[in-house]
Amino acid sequence: MTDRYCLVGENVSRSPSPAMMNAAFGAMGLDAVYTSENVARHDFNERFARLKEQTSGMNVTIPYKSLVIPMLDELDEVASRIGAVNVIKRSGDRFLGFNSDAQGILVPLREHGKSTVRRVLLVGAGGAARAFCEAMNQAGCADVVVAVRDPSKGENFIKEMSKVFPGMKFSFTDISLLRDAEFDLIFNATPIGTGEQRLPDSLKRVIYGRSTVFDAVYRPMKTELLRTAEMRGCTTIFGYEMLLNQGTLAFEIWTGKTAPKEVMKRSLLESLEAAA
Ligand code: NAP
Repeated sequence: MTDRYCLVGENVSRSPSPAMMNAAFGAMGLDAVYTSENVARHDFNERFARLKEQTSGMNVTIPYKSLVIPMLDELDEVASRIGAVNVIKRSGDRFLGFNSDAQGILVPLREHGKSTVRRVLLVGAGGAARAFCEAMNQAGCADVVVAVRDPSKGENFIKEMSKVFPGMKFSFTDISLLRDAEFDLIFNATPIGTGEQRLPDSLKRVIYGRSTVFDAVYRPMKTELLRTAEMRGCTTIFGYEMLLNQGTLAFEIWTGKTAPKEVMKRSLLESLEAAA
């Protein structure tokens, strides 16, 4: 019988994940299919319970990465540390939650020769930001400055992250107040760069040639942030690289097989380019 997998989120019709995952299943000769499932908040409990019956595994995205936790039987170490699940695997009648987003950040950094970072600027304080903190902890980072538009959220976020990662120093700033500081790495964990969300001038002020600039946004592929960073001579890392590497780990969690990364990358890029 065909194994079913899916992506669950509020607005996932245009996601490139089905193209990437179905290419991987095909390349590995697996009888499996991956779909995207738009699930409205008011419908979440009922739809999720039904999807649990029908699938062998799921990806979870905005806004369900934390909401899904009480509906699972067990969490891996990273997911329980940061309170966010983006991969679910069925094991018999149990459902296990994982987080592969941190690997999605660490692997591209390593591939670009940037696995050691000391001082970083994190823009945003949501789900991707939590995965970034986990990745930075694993990378031995000492100092995280969090830029937010709502200082009360920044304060809560750094309080929580300081408890989870006592070895790192966290501080926050209003994004509009960013000044000429220099960072080893700048990571955008907000939707700035998508649709109408323009890059704030204050953020442009901290983009220097020696920094690496990593954007979690993958559509458009080359955001205003990455274009600016490229023009100023920075190393740039695209959002699709995170999407690809969180996806290869999800595939490996579900199937126990090494993911066909090149096939997945090709399908992902084709899917993003076709939709551009
Ligand atoms: P989330 O949990 O909703 O968090 C979004 C964060 O961005 C919040 O801190 C929010 O602040 C902030 N924000 C939104 N608009 C902003 C603006 N105009 N200026 C400043 N801050 C703003 O979302 P998420 O899951 O972290 O995802 C964030 C982005 O990363 C999305 O674009 C998502 O597609 C992308 N992402 C990519 C990957 C990948 O594999 N490449 C994986 C995960 C996420 P408020 O609380 O004040 O609204």
